[in-house]
This record gives sequence, structure tokens and C-alpha cells, in this order.
Amino acid sequence: MDKRTFLKLCSAALTSPALSSLLAWSQSSKLRNWAGNLEYGTEQLTTADSLQQVQDFVRKQKKFKVLGTRHCFNNIANSSEQFLSLKPMDRVIALDPDARTVTVESGMTYGQLCPYLDGKGWALHNLASLPHISIAGACSTATHGSGETNGNLSTAVSALEFVDASGNVVTLTRKKDGEAFRGAVVGLGALGVITKVTLDIQPRFMMHQYVYQNLPLRELKDHFDAIESSAYSVSLFTDWQTESLNEVWLKMRMESGRTADAPPDFFGAKRATKNLHPIAELSAENCTEQMGVPGPWYERLPHFRMGFTPSAGKELQSEYFVPRKHAVEAILAVQRLHEQVSPHLLITEIRTIAADDLWMSTCYQQPSVTIHFTWKQDWPAVQKLLPVIERELAPFHPRPHWGKLFTISSEQIHSSYEKLPAFVELTRKCDPHGKFQNEFLHSYIFGQTYL
Ligand SMILES: Cc1cc2nc3c(=O)[nH]c(=O)nc-3n(C[C@H](O)[C@H](O)[C@H](O)COP(=O)(O)OP(=O)(O)OC[C@H]3O[C@@H](n4cnc5c(N)ncnc54)[C@H](O)[C@@H]3O)c2cc1C
Repeated sequence: MDKRTFLKLCSAALTSPALSSLLAWSQSSKLRNWAGNLEYGTEQLTTADSLQQVQDFVRKQKKFKVLGTRHCFNNIANSSEQFLSLKPMDRVIALDPDARTVTVESGMTYGQLCPYLDGKGWALHNLASLPHISIAGACSTATHGSGETNGNLSTAVSALEFVDASGNVVTLTRKKDGEAFRGAVVGLGALGVITKVTLDIQPRFMMHQYVYQNLPLRELKDHFDAIESSAYSVSLFTDWQTESLNEVWLKMRMESGRTADAPPDFFGAKRATKNLHPIAELSAENCTEQMGVPGPWYERLPHFRMGFTPSAGKELQSEYFVPRKHAVEAILAVQRLHEQVSPHLLITEIRTIAADDLWMSTCYQQPSVTIHFTWKQDWPAVQKLLPVIERELAPFHPRPHWGKLFTISSEQIHSSYEKLPAFVELTRKCDPHGKFQNEFLHSYIFGQTYL
């Protein structure tokens, strides 16, 4: 199928109610992840509505996984035994203006939290490309947005409550629990069932975003730092088909109501004259407002609007984090593969993220650039291509996104995370018999630990 036909089908699937319900029907017959590429290993799913119910469930089960909003593309959340969903646990527990924190139940999504926070005069520091993901699931995999000075979403966590394998409630805070806290935040679903998350907040702020088209690759090579530091959050989109990047999204904070107009030219790219989708051929109606129109932080930081819930995502995703200092070399390395990559690609997004100190974070002690691929849903082709990309990026020691598709070996993962042995030890304390283990964790992190 060529890209044009594929895009037509994608946009039809998203806009036609008949097709949407057909897709929903065909996918509801089995429990699947959001993108539909993964059929989970069991349909046994129990829902909990209180801490007590979570504790009772944990004590009864031998092995299970918690399901968040099912947005991971790989089998990190998969189970062949049992699932627990905390979807009904989506309440705000406390907003503390003095401590500048909000505490929420872990089934809450960013889409639910953000309008509440904004209404109370508060904001989060950053958001992912879409708001429909659960806070606990996103923080467990080091989900990120963009921005030179912005840590990933997990860096906003200042306290966690979870139920360990024996059913006991554990609370860890950034202030009091140092290393154990830093080990637990990006927990990959291995330590226990997260029941509460406390996040840092800041006074609400307004933003506006501008999109530019056709940024020459040579400008990116020569001015990468200037381009990335030109806005609070910068995203570059490319299909690698030409010597230009298709789109640059600049998201700017409007401190004290200032509305500086954006210049018509940005490093050779031209300011768009209408709202655009990251894939320019698709309708922008589901995208956050552009063209410099002011709006609250939570309606500008994501690329996709809160009110829009995609019915099905006919796509696959992969993403690699490389040290920020190798950004240009890494981008050029992928550009060299454009003839192999482009036929299978919908779009690439390039973002930067600040370093952090969370043990299993993809940005652990490393300011990073991420090269993300949204693929057509053709796993046999993508599966062949990933090792080619990973080989090309190997000199930069890429860390794959924990929730996306990769073929990097467990040895490479182990060599990329110096705190991984300490994470294994921490996990064994919370879960001595592997109640929260699955094939993904066994393959990439724990190996023989639980045999
Ligand atoms: C369309 C789309 C856009 C995306 N955009 C971005 C992006 O901009 N940036 C980015 O970094 N990622 C992005 N992602 C990836 C996504 O953010 C991550 O996969 C994230 O983990 C999804 O959260 P979830 O709740 O859906 O996770 P799930 O897939 O449901 O679960 C993920 C992991 O968290 C664990 N978990 C979930 N809830 C709990 C809990 N309460 N207690 C213990 N463990 C728990 C699960 O067991 C599993 O291990 C995107 C994904 C999609 C589909």
C-alpha cells in the first residue's frame, strides 16, 4: 500500500463512525493494546476502585500485571495470567498550594487532571504528544514531551504510593527516600501496584505555538542548538524524503501576557499559513491550536487535543534516546537510511529532553535527543528495519523507549543503565517471588533473577 492510500485509510478510520465502530468491534473481541498490534495473553481483567480492593487482589494473585491506558506498543504491560485495572481510581486526592503538589489516584489520565489543575490556577511542567495516557503508566515508562530544560514526565513525581507483592502499602517520597525513590519512579511496572502519585505543579501559564515548514537539513546541522533552544518545547517532524525537515513545531510560554509575533522565516523554514497535522496530508482538526493563538498550557503542550479520543491507532512506534551531544550525528545517521526507512514510515519526530536522576529513566544522567518513528502497521517490515537503524545508532549507545518497539538486546540494555543491578535488588525487596514479572521484564531486565 502506498503512503497516500494508507493515509486516506487512516484518516477515514478516524473520521468515519461506521469504520470506527467496525474497528472497535473487531478489536473488542480480544483484549488488545491501543494500537491493536498486540493481543494480550489473557482476557482476565479485574477492576479495583479502592486501595483495599487493590490489596485484596494482590494478596490473592500469584502473578498479574497492571494495565493503564494500554498505550504501549510492546509487551511491557502484557500478562498471560491476569490483569488489574485501576481505571475507576481517577480522583484528585489533594492539591497543596504551599508544597506546590497535586496528589492523584493512579488511574487518572493527564486529560482528566490538566483541566482540573488549570481551573485551580496550576499547571504541570510538560506533557506528552497526547493527553489520553494514564499518569501511572506514563511515569512508569519515562514518557516525555520536549524541551531543552524540561525533564520527562516522571521527573514531576515527588511521591509514590504502591502496594507491594505481599499486599503492604509502601510510600516513597523524593524528600525522604533518596535512592529508593529514584529507583522506584520509572518502575516499569515491576515494583508493585501504584495507587497514588504526587506531582510537582507550578502556576498556570499561557502558551502559543507556531509551525514552520521545510527546514533545510543543512540549517539543522549548523544551528541545532539555536533551533532547539528557540522555544520552551520544540518538535521536528520529518519523513526523511528530502533534504528538508517537513515541520518545526515551536511551543512558547507567554510570560506576563506577552504576545510576540513569530517571524515569517525560521532558519530557512517558512511559517505555516494554517494549522497543520504532523503529517501535513492529514486534517489538523484534531491537533492543538497553532498560528500563535494563545491558549492554556495543556492545550498547547500536546500535539493532539484533549477532547479528541482516537478510536484506533493504525500505527506502530519506535523511539531511541541518544546523548544530546551526538544529536546531529545521530540524525544524519538515520538520514543515510532514508531509502529503507521512508517506505514504511508515517512520520519521524525529533525532541530533546533534560537529564534526570531516575535510575531506569531513558534520560538518566544524560541530556538526550530522541528520534521517534511512527510506522505503518506492518510489523514484519518494521521488525527487519529496526536492527538496521539500531546498528546505525550503535556508536551513540541508544536507549530505546520502554513502551515502544525495539530489537536492541538485553546485553545492550544492561550496559546502558548503570543502576540496573540496583533496580533489580530494589525490585526483589518489593516482589521477592516475581508476582509482577512478565516476559518483557524477564527478557530485558531480570533474566535469571526469578528462576
Ligand atoms: C498515540 C501515542 C502517542 C504517544 N506519545 C508519546 C509521547 O509523546 N512521549 C512518550 O514518551 N511516549 C508516548 N507514547 C507512549 C506512552 O506514553 C507510553 O507507552 C505510556 O507508558 C503509556 O501509558 P499507559 O498507561 O497507556 O501504559 P500501559 O501500556 O497500560 O502500561 C505501561 C506500563 O505501566 C505499568 N502500569 C500502568 N499502570 C500502573 C500502575 N497503576 N501501577 C503499576 N504499574 C502500572 C504497566 O504494567 C506497564 O508496565 C505514546 C503512545 C501512543 C499510543
